[in-house]
Amino acid sequence: MKSTIDKFQQIVNNLLDDESKKPMAQFIASENLYAEVDLALSKTGIAEDKFEAALNDLVLKTPRTATNAFFNQLFGGRNETAVLGDLLAVILNNSMYTYKAAGPQVGVEKIILREVCNIIGWGEGADGTFAPGGSLTNFMSMVMARDAANKAAPYEGVTQKMTVYTSKESHYSIPKNAAFSGLGRDQVRYVPSDKLGRLDLKSLELMIEEDIQNGFKPIMVNLTAGTTVLGAFDPVGEVRAIGDKYGLWLHLDGAYCGSVIFSQKYKHLVEGIAHVDSFSFNAHKMIGTPLSCSIIVVKDKGNLHSSFSNDASYLYQTDHDEFNLGKTSLQCGRRNDALKFWALWKRVGTDGLEKIVDHQFYLADVARDYIRAHQDYELYSYDESISICFNYKGIPARDICTLLYEYSELLVGYGSYEADEFIRLVTINAQNSEQDILDFFKTMEGFVASHEHLFTPALTQNP
Ligand SMILES: *Cc1c(COP(=O)(O)O)cnc(C)c1O
Repeated sequence: MKSTIDKFQQIVNNLLDDESKKPMAQFIASENLYAEVDLALSKTGIAEDKFEAALNDLVLKTPRTATNAFFNQLFGGRNETAVLGDLLAVILNNSMYTYKAAGPQVGVEKIILREVCNIIGWGEGADGTFAPGGSLTNFMSMVMARDAANKAAPYEGVTQKMTVYTSKESHYSIPKNAAFSGLGRDQVRYVPSDKLGRLDLKSLELMIEEDIQNGFKPIMVNLTAGTTVLGAFDPVGEVRAIGDKYGLWLHLDGAYCGSVIFSQKYKHLVEGIAHVDSFSFNAHKMIGTPLSCSIIVVKDKGNLHSSFSNDASYLYQTDHDEFNLGKTSLQCGRRNDALKFWALWKRVGTDGLEKIVDHQFYLADVARDYIRAHQDYELYSYDESISICFNYKGIPARDICTLLYEYSELLVGYGSYEADEFIRLVTINAQNSEQDILDFFKTMEGFVASHEHLFTPALTQNP
């Protein structure tokens, strides 16, 4: 094993050296992939030196998500302390279902969940769990909403037409999860959003009333803290009254920007969070841990137990349920996603997490200020969002993004809101500096200027 760790170090050092010279891996078109990278598997295996060469080559040709050229959705950077925690989780290789198999790692997970509940303002009645991604923490919330609305649902199945409300700007996992949970995609109601991309409360209530009149049973409102395109925050506090009036489960999907709970300056964006029934966030997005680190917390842990616990005498042989995390998780065998987050939190404290979050908003301000100060740009995003949406010289956003990718210059995505399509720069990598953001614009502008022939139609239409 020790020599394997040496090998690992060598491969990583190669990558780090190469990254410091070239922040982008060379673009490989998917149709050329198997010709350009040796991925073939054989019956007999290969010699050690060939194996190492193949690994090195694969690593060097893989897109680089930790550099200052990566602004694609919605993660980035390489937080060293969190990486160390994750590497140790791989070496330890515990499964998180029981105390017997994971020991103190159970405490690592529990203490994170406890602290998150404390920050929200939830007492001992609250708890949570980790799942393999924000789509699946959202799934867990929908299952709990279904079971809370009808205790018989986990046994009899869904026998009523239950409806779920979410803004049309919310994540696509909501309709997927409606299919998975037996509610059905057709039972998802897409509530219009206002000018700032936030769920519109008046429309929400009208849609609920209409559904009730038509014999549906509304069960849940899904709110978003950081919509996928604009990074908008739905009005969390104001929805509770509607939730109470109609007996609805409120979930706050904070996969993208729920980590604002750690910031004194920005937690007002999720004001009223204590009044939702469940809240999820991805530490692998704003906090910058390695993928994936997805957390859901629930105000009343009874809901977690009633929807996710199954007795299994072969598994739960010792210790109190409270330490057998498998009782409240989606999975059976489960990777330790908590240690990377715990390592970072332990090292930098809650104040350090706050700095990480605040720095991203600062970088977003730098980008917005730059765009506002330069007349070749049009800005579509609002303050207090880390998604900077803009167009440059009227060139179609998808053309710029695709060519920057194919010429191995920058990785950045595009999105749309209503009729507009635009480049979406996300300032989620807290390791970037102000200069890195300014360099992004410089690189993009330089690329457009020196490849004018590729953009000619747009440039001549929009001089
Ligand atoms: C990223 C995201 C998700 C999905 O999270 P994954 O970890 O990618 O599954 C869900 N909701 C929102 C708002 C997101 O930004």
